[in-house]
Amino acid sequence: MALKTPLEYVESLRALNIRAYVGGERVDSIVDHPAIAPHINTVAKTYELAHVEEHRDVMTTISHLTGERIHRYTHIFQSADDLVKKIQMLRLLGQTTGTCFQRCVGLDALNATYAITFEVDAAEGTDYHERFKRYLGRVQAEDLMLAGAMTDPKGHRAQKPSEQADPDQFVRVVERRPDGVVIRGAKLHNTGGINAHEILVLPGTGLTADEGDYAIACAVPADAEGVVFIFGRQSNDSRKLEGGCDIGNPRFGVVGGEAMVVFDDVFVPTENIFLNGETRYCGTLVNYFATWHRANYGGCKGGNADVLIGATAKMTRILGTERNAIVKDKLTEMIHLNETTYASAIGASAMGYALPCGSFMVEPMMANTVKQNITRNVYQIGRLSHDLAGGFLATMPDQKALENLEIGDLVRKYHTANPDYTADERIRYGRYIENMTSTTTMVEAMHGAGSPQAQRIVMLALASLDSKIALADQVLNGTDDVPGLPLPGSVSGPA
Ligand code: SF4
Repeated sequence: MALKTPLEYVESLRALNIRAYVGGERVDSIVDHPAIAPHINTVAKTYELAHVEEHRDVMTTISHLTGERIHRYTHIFQSADDLVKKIQMLRLLGQTTGTCFQRCVGLDALNATYAITFEVDAAEGTDYHERFKRYLGRVQAEDLMLAGAMTDPKGHRAQKPSEQADPDQFVRVVERRPDGVVIRGAKLHNTGGINAHEILVLPGTGLTADEGDYAIACAVPADAEGVVFIFGRQSNDSRKLEGGCDIGNPRFGVVGGEAMVVFDDVFVPTENIFLNGETRYCGTLVNYFATWHRANYGGCKGGNADVLIGATAKMTRILGTERNAIVKDKLTEMIHLNETTYASAIGASAMGYALPCGSFMVEPMMANTVKQNITRNVYQIGRLSHDLAGGFLATMPDQKALENLEIGDLVRKYHTANPDYTADERIRYGRYIENMTSTTTMVEAMHGAGSPQAQRIVMLALASLDSKIALADQVLNGTDDVPGLPLPGSVSGPA
């Protein structure tokens, strides 16, 4: 059963005994909780579209391990075309759900672990890669929803993991047994973990040689003993409990249902351990993951913005402003900003190159540029949406006012603009815009896949200013001109 159906995904979650807390209370069934259900429904779309013939080429592929058809979300990138198709898949899913569909973190964590285990084995004579391939085979065969877990709490930011007053600020091994290890710590901002089958835990930073206990990569079932999920608050999340149009994106939620996941002395058997003490590879592992994930944002945010641009364009029709040249120009600017990041993500993928293990990495400069632009363009697109939709985004009455027999008609009367559209429709689209441009969405665009400065550090390092200076020197001082041309000659002056 290499391709789960949406229902099989939901039923498989039901079978897990996940320890989760929402609003400070223990949740009996994550599937039946209104705060989590929209995020489950979003992931279910990733399963559903894999069964749609029209999307088969983008949503599925052939396993390089078994030759079987598998979900693209469990695939190891075998070519630049695979990388391009991944970005296309993300845009499609973003267009379908208008939010984060969560499975990409696990996908990139799978690929990063596949690549690094090959390199560790080649250098150290270990056998992590074959072990990981066995794990990967199971992930592909069962079409598992994996959550990658990278970001540690980090404690005092000026101190290394081994220097922290509380050594648990980074996930670490606290006990080694003949048949496995016991890990302790937490991962924050964990996308999709609360509705995943398994968590792929990876180090979140480069480590020094004396920090071997922190160099742990492993797979942990979401319902393993000692795993605790604490669901994060989002802007306007209590509206999910009220129902109605005030939710904004009622079917799919806002961003990825992030949770804090705690590993409270969790035992990990040897077959699920893919790095255990090899500190010198952690920086590369983190870099691999981050580079793939940064390119993703041109796809998923592109699809999300398609929906937001659509909602905004519809709002201009509801208001009767759609023929105004300035309105058209602002919509054009939203499109331009969106296509710029999508084009960079496609470019980073098309320029992908083979890693030592044979899988494919996106071109890192473009990948980092994608994410850097996302930290601006998502805000700018949201700003233009606010501009065009108007101040009622912040002041419109709520669903209960619409339902109230005394005042509902007054609300409708004074919120009707173009009579071709109802006031209810205006408010519903307004709520979508409000929620999809709210704090949670913006902060996710800013910090997901690494904060903006992380990309700038990589970009500056990759740009090699010395080589650019050499280019300038050559252009200005070169002597490689075609002989005989009446060139003005070089200007003499300081070297
Ligand atoms: Fe995927 Fe985008 Fe969500 Fe990251 S933010 S998990 S790339 S949909």
